[in-house]
Amino acid sequence: MNTLKACCVFLMITALMASCSQTHTPAIPSDPHSFSNPEEAFVEHLSLSLVVNMEEKILQGEAVWMIGKNRNAKELILDTKELEILEVQTSNDGQTKTAAKFTLGPKDPILGEALHIPITAGTRFVHIRYNTTPGAEALQFLPPAQTHTGRSPFLLTQSQAINARTWVPCQDSPGLRFTYNATVTVPKGLLALMSAENPTQVSPDGVYQFQMTQPIPAYLLALAVGELTFRSLGPNTGVYAEPTLIDKAAYEFEEVNDMISIAEKLYGPYQWGRYDIVVLPPSFPFGGMENPRLTFATPTILAGDRSLVALVAHELAHSWSGNLVTNATWNDFWLNEGFTVYFENRIMEALKGAEYANMLAQISLKDLNDEVRDMGSDSPDTKLAIDLAGTNPDDGVTSIAYDKGFFFLKTIEKTVGREAFDAFLIDYFNKNAFKTMTTDEFVAILREDLLVKFPGSEEQIGVDNWVYGTGIPDNLPIPQSDKFTNVEKAVSAWIAGVDEGDLGSDEWTSHEWLHFIHSLPDGIDAKELGRLDSVFHLTASTNSEVQAAWYERAIKSNYLKAKPAIRKFLTTVGRRKFLMPLYGAMKNTPGWEQTALDIYREARPRYHPISVISVDQLLSWQE
Ligand SMILES: [Zn+2]
Repeated sequence: MNTLKACCVFLMITALMASCSQTHTPAIPSDPHSFSNPEEAFVEHLSLSLVVNMEEKILQGEAVWMIGKNRNAKELILDTKELEILEVQTSNDGQTKTAAKFTLGPKDPILGEALHIPITAGTRFVHIRYNTTPGAEALQFLPPAQTHTGRSPFLLTQSQAINARTWVPCQDSPGLRFTYNATVTVPKGLLALMSAENPTQVSPDGVYQFQMTQPIPAYLLALAVGELTFRSLGPNTGVYAEPTLIDKAAYEFEEVNDMISIAEKLYGPYQWGRYDIVVLPPSFPFGGMENPRLTFATPTILAGDRSLVALVAHELAHSWSGNLVTNATWNDFWLNEGFTVYFENRIMEALKGAEYANMLAQISLKDLNDEVRDMGSDSPDTKLAIDLAGTNPDDGVTSIAYDKGFFFLKTIEKTVGREAFDAFLIDYFNKNAFKTMTTDEFVAILREDLLVKFPGSEEQIGVDNWVYGTGIPDNLPIPQSDKFTNVEKAVSAWIAGVDEGDLGSDEWTSHEWLHFIHSLPDGIDAKELGRLDSVFHLTASTNSEVQAAWYERAIKSNYLKAKPAIRKFLTTVGRRKFLMPLYGAMKNTPGWEQTALDIYREARPRYHPISVISVDQLLSWQE
């Protein structure tokens, strides 16, 4: 554990050489969310050893960083947060080590502590022995009862945005990439998976080796450990899930192979080898996380009818937008997410038709309108080019980056035509693969490589207004969906007294149901909701999106019959997208404030730290 074997050094060097062909000397962006000093010294390869201790809920780690560029640096600075640093050594050859007198900087509540390691011009490796602590915001250790089988404990990580530093001391900035290899020891019988080349079988001794030969930023470091099994879905794709969920997952994700072909046809070859998905327990705080080679997914998209697989298209699309061309800092987050929502929409259009993509776009528009209404249309938080310095970058995870970003790209597409825009995007992904991008750089490339060919397009689009302005520009292309128009007519008819059974809803998909719930008038009362519920059984829905929308409506209309189902949902699911509106609605609805606190008291220990931070803040929670 404590010594680095020669073969590991060889592997590291091989990996480094493999990666060199894909990297260039990066223009290093200044990142307000990292203490690191890449201008002086930056790291290029990580050799990581981890022992997963499920009982104590900690990782015992040894991280060996290979320094790539060292411009006569006096020190290497790494990001850490809540780590117990046991020992730091430096070496010139990876073998002969000298103890380093490291120091930790002052504690910042958001950024953690800078780890200062003195180095010389000849230093090539730093070796750090450390333990994680129970406060690690990336890690969630789940007891067996919170898994699907109920038999084994589970560990999952979420490194984005700046949580990698809570389980690996690293240069935790999206603008800095490295390759890695890892040895992970877990309790026997469990499978370990990383954002790397993965095993498909349980290792008898509980020891797993991983290689990631393509350079990634720290926020894409990922680990999942649990009772997991694998099912192939195509030549280069498959799904991991708990044994009791694997059939359901394999059915739900059957179209993934087609999605990969569609994505490659749109924007060029998939560059990460395999594309696999792991289905996590329901406390996973996000819908999905685009960890390279292995998307992490919430089980709440296993609707049984493939109606929520757009999320997989989204995570797959990140293999280009985000993982291949990466936002330089979290202030450029819209470059990751806006592009990905656009790309997701194009994959779903090719897979299910234009009408389907229009429905997704209308849902996007609703989310954007709601967000801008809540923030205020002149709020600086409604800018694509946002300034998150001094705040937690998770605060930037709003509809602005995703949906305003999406509609900006739709506006460009509409102005220059799809053919020209697609050609531009293929070129953009090609030229910038394995590089990082700032908002200003993107705008310059857009002007030079595309808009210059279309006189007047710059003004027609209003690029500066979209990127640097607040609110929603008035040239946003409004999506039209015939199916949603029919749903709106059904709502009007129902309000006018038409019977629930005569609304033509027999063939509605979950997206139409969502739109139906969203289109109900604000003043609707509990009695009226009860009438809908007795016919459509919305409280008993098993589609997580429909559940979340209906429960929010139920709270606002004080529909008490839904309360037990709301409690069950919130004490099972930890996906932040669902938690925030539901707890928010309870907090703001007279008579429900105490219910919010009661449910949260029960549910809080089951949530991932990322969700806990958000809901604590929302409810002003005090232990
Ligand atoms: Zn995304």
